[in-house]
Amino acid sequence: MKQTVIVIAVFFIAVALMAAAVLLVRILLNKRKGKKSNKLVSSLRDEKRKSDIILQATDDGVVLIDTQNTIQLFNPAAKTITGWPSDEARGLDYHNVLKLVDAQNKPYDETQDPFTKVLKSKSPVRDNAAVVVTKEGKPVSISLSVSPLIDAQNNVNGAVGIFRDVSEERREEQRRAEFISTASHEMRTPVAAIEGYLALALNDHVSKIDTKARDFLEKAHLSTQHLGKLFQDLLTSAKAEDGRLTSHPVVVEMGAFLEQLTNDLRFSATKKNLTTEFVVGAVDPSIIDASKEGGYGKVVRPLYYVEADPERLREVVTNLFDNAVKYTESGKISVGLTGNTEVVQIYIRDTGPGIPTEDIPHLFQKFYRVDSSATRTIGGTGLGLFISRKIIELYNGRIWVESELGKGSTFFINVPRLSVQRATEQQTKEAAVAPATPVGSLTGVS
Ligand code: ADP
Repeated sequence: MKQTVIVIAVFFIAVALMAAAVLLVRILLNKRKGKKSNKLVSSLRDEKRKSDIILQATDDGVVLIDTQNTIQLFNPAAKTITGWPSDEARGLDYHNVLKLVDAQNKPYDETQDPFTKVLKSKSPVRDNAAVVVTKEGKPVSISLSVSPLIDAQNNVNGAVGIFRDVSEERREEQRRAEFISTASHEMRTPVAAIEGYLALALNDHVSKIDTKARDFLEKAHLSTQHLGKLFQDLLTSAKAEDGRLTSHPVVVEMGAFLEQLTNDLRFSATKKNLTTEFVVGAVDPSIIDASKEGGYGKVVRPLYYVEADPERLREVVTNLFDNAVKYTESGKISVGLTGNTEVVQIYIRDTGPGIPTEDIPHLFQKFYRVDSSATRTIGGTGLGLFISRKIIELYNGRIWVESELGKGSTFFINVPRLSVQRATEQQTKEAAVAPATPVGSLTGVS
């Protein structure tokens, strides 16, 4: 009996000791966890403090909006640039605070607004030409970059915009452009006179010169032509940069327009023994009239309408075509036209030397020329593609190149397409304002 009591007592003592041990372990673990979570809280607090310091100190304006367009954060630099105190701006619709206008002082519409674009597309947008109207109504040139805030489920929770006052840089650019524009304008006149006199000297009916003198004068004539082109390009690029490029957009049917232009340009390619072709893109099977003779009947070429200044379009296509001729030694130059319901695509393809991959991102910048033996011997200004890009951007289009070394290059241009109905309405309006022969026609059956 005594033994049984002892066993029971030992058992209870053992159970009590085990319970105490478990309790102790739990307390220790909880303490550790507590320490860990305290550490996390304080490190988060540290991170927030650091971000706050950066947001307060940076020169760049930072604005954060939610999906309802409400401003959630507006840092002190944003206040300095826009004149809106942070606590007043917070909680307001950003359209009322960041009033964006273009260089002509026209308020941005939905399609231009970088925040709307970012919330819709979920991809970052950069705008280097924006102007913000301050609280006091003063325009300030800014460079703005907007990025989406995306959560783990790929939902957009808002957008963050970072902007900088670039008024001084823009004024500087303006001064530089004005200087270039005045200088090239003034220099064009004497150069044109020299070119004219050289042409007279080379004209058999006007002057008698020997072969040696002719050779020298021909070289001088070529260089003067090059100089004249350089001044013309400088003038155009200066105008393009400060938005003074004249443009009189009208409805253009690209099929008729490009076909005619390719015929006009063909001569320079033929002189170099290059073949030329004009290709209209894949025919949409839905517009093939199967009821006509031969099963497929007459093929109706789609009408590719755009709204642009035909003279400017001519400039761009001519430049791309001339480059293709200039840089291609043998083979073919194709001018193509295709598109979908949204865009019209023009392309100029050559079988020339191609362009190195590392040069492609810089090609449409001012004065950029690929450093190769070809460009060193072939004259050029490095301004043609820059001007072409500026012109295409006037019509909300895009220009780019795809190329493979040794195989050739294809320059593409995408411009927004006008529906036949819009084109007809627009042409009626144009005819009412100034009755003139329309470029391209509404009858595109070929
Ligand atoms: P450039 O007056 O030098 O031709 P562009 O701005 O028209 O000036 O072209 C810039 C550069 O791009 C050229 O110098 C040349 O190196 C390259 N390039 C343009 N078109 C072609 C082409 N079709 N094939 C190969 N290189 C080209």
